[in-house]
Amino acid sequence: MTEQKHPQKQPKVCPECGHVFQGNGWDGIDAHWRARHDDVMPYEEAWPLLKAETYGN
Ligand SMILES: [Zn+2]
Repeated sequence: MTEQKHPQKQPKVCPECGHVFQGNGWDGIDAHWRARHDDVMPYEEAWPLLKAETYGN
């Protein structure tokens, strides 16, 4: 088991739908979230939680 020390190199996964962001970090999350999950939580509120990886915790 290899411990991950470079979280920015791990693909980010949308906690709402499991979409994997293949780009650089959360690249594209704003458009993705606004298009698909803005009714669940406004992007402005969700982004700090996503960034801190505390969304849904
Ligand atoms: Zn999603």
